[in-house]
Amino acid sequence: MDFNNNNKRNELILAIDIGGTSYKGALVNKNGEIIYRYKIKAADYGSNEKFLLTIFNLISKLSKKTKLNNQKIIAMSFSVPGAIDTDNGIMKYSNNLKLENLNFKKELIKKYNNLPIFMLNDANAATLGEARKGIAKNYANVVFLTLGTGVGGGIIINHKLYAGSQFMGAELGHMSIDINGKLCTCGRRGCFEAYASAKALVNYTKEGLNKYKDSKMWDEINNDINNVNGSVSFEALKKHPNDLGAKEVVTKYIRYLSEGILNYCNIFRPDIILIGGGVSEQGDYLVKLINDYCKDYNYGFKSTPIPIIKTATLKNDAGIIGAAYFALDNLK
Ligand SMILES: [Zn+2]
Repeated sequence: MDFNNNNKRNELILAIDIGGTSYKGALVNKNGEIIYRYKIKAADYGSNEKFLLTIFNLISKLSKKTKLNNQKIIAMSFSVPGAIDTDNGIMKYSNNLKLENLNFKKELIKKYNNLPIFMLNDANAATLGEARKGIAKNYANVVFLTLGTGVGGGIIINHKLYAGSQFMGAELGHMSIDINGKLCTCGRRGCFEAYASAKALVNYTKEGLNKYKDSKMWDEINNDINNVNGSVSFEALKKHPNDLGAKEVVTKYIRYLSEGILNYCNIFRPDIILIGGGVSEQGDYLVKLINDYCKDYNYGFKSTPIPIIKTATLKNDAGIIGAAYFALDNLK
């Protein structure tokens, strides 16, 4: 494998987004553009050896492309799920991959010892990607929230990723909004994640369906409660703005979500809040509801700027592009 030709043009970052079911690799140029991509099925869970072999295989597939096009890989960067020691490149714990204390960077250096290697947590990578190349690219201060099974995200301050001590901060889903509230997987009560995730929205929808037997939400699920997903209440309300059940579910969800967003506004006062994950599919409809709620409770009222709220744009590429920018930032 030739990483060392002297061509200064077309310098590329080899970036890999490690997910639970697949590993997405790409060659990314210095403008954050993906010029080649390759996806590989995830290795069997729980085996360090198989994990590493699969990653090496993906790296080999990607690097072959550079030979053909006379390009040069100047660094490798990885978006990794779970707890990761970014400075030392140790994957401490990944529930998704069933890996524990894997010295990933050391293994990579053994094989590719002439290349700088970087890695960061997947939520931080996605945040950096969205902030640099997505819709937030012209803003210095960004809070990115992903509303999926859980609530994740990240923080950008003055164009730079803020992840706290040992990259362990920015756990945006684990801010309590009710100290007597629901027990969270983290051990505390009332975490934002338990109220504003897509999973929470599904639960509110099921409660609403059971309470309002004549709700138009039933039409969205063909009268089968097993068909409920995060879009049911929103779709029903768009079509039937006076539907009591759909209105109650959406109002409840928007209230919890917006109260959390107001907390982030009061702490960070970002220029923009980006919303990603499954719930963000509701786009401008969702944004308007949040804005309508937040304007009434904005700290300092008219004297304080209300952050712009938008839905994220890079979707599945955010992690790869963010990993590439993390390498570019740290190479300087
Ligand atoms: Zn929690």
